[in-house]
Amino acid sequence: NGSLVVVGTGIRTTEHLTGNAIAWIKASDKVLYVVADLVAERVIKELSPSAESLTVLYGEGKPRGETYHAMVDRILDSVRGGQRTCVVFYGHPGVFAYPGHLAIERARDEGYPATMLPAISAEDCLFADLGIDPGHQGMQSYEATHFVLHRKRIDPTTALVLWQIGSFGDHTYRREGASHHKLPFLVARLCEEYPADHVVTIYEAAIYIGCAPRIERLRLGKLAEARVTPASTLYIPPVRKSRIDPATAAWLGSEPADR
Ligand code: SAM
Repeated sequence: NGSLVVVGTGIRTTEHLTGNAIAWIKASDKVLYVVADLVAERVIKELSPSAESLTVLYGEGKPRGETYHAMVDRILDSVRGGQRTCVVFYGHPGVFAYPGHLAIERARDEGYPATMLPAISAEDCLFADLGIDPGHQGMQSYEATHFVLHRKRIDPTTALVLWQIGSFGDHTYRREGASHHKLPFLVARLCEEYPADHVVTIYEAAIYIGCAPRIERLRLGKLAEARVTPASTLYIPPVRKSRIDPATAAWLGSEPADR
């Protein structure tokens, strides 16, 4: 009887992999994985020697959407073949990782039990390493290309996190990461709302225990010249504080504490 469970390794596998995820990897008939580092791969292979990487489905210059569909097909083939299938993604398996959700939806549509376990995402590490609480001034979080393409509204009183700045404007896969000649478009869009000297952070969580994260603070106007990798996430702090609306405060009967 085929089934599907989608789990994540977290960002530093040996530190973040949960007991529950380990149990599923061990207990499954077939383990398929998409991870970004060799330690994660080794841990998975130790828990399940027959585990297979799905990264072979990426092709140089191939649209990532095509690869994702090929991954989902491979996952569903295993489930339909009657195997208890566990798919492992790095980070949180359902955060900026579309094939996991799609595979679960398809498996359920076909009548198979399918679930996802939460895990630690890059953004969770960002909160810890940069000392940011998204509950403080609120937070917006977007895939960088989507953000520009859809002209998402920016609220400069709220923190903004942009994912995948390393493949900005490129929907294909490149082993070495995309070329960054389109980054000036992202900078131009951001400069419509933020001053060019606003200090932003290029963030890369450490993927190995004992290593330091990359936290590079620079002026927004300099972003296109900075070193940006497939693991870079951009953090933009609010430029100013929002104010309490007096009418709403009066209606609520008391002025809530404003930090
Ligand atoms: N599922 C992953 C997670 O939960 O973090 C995200 C996968 S998404 C396809 C890839 C993007 O995640 C990168 O472009 C980057 O924005 C972010 N990312 C991945 N690894 C990271 C790291 N070590 N530090 C900071 N951001 C990272």
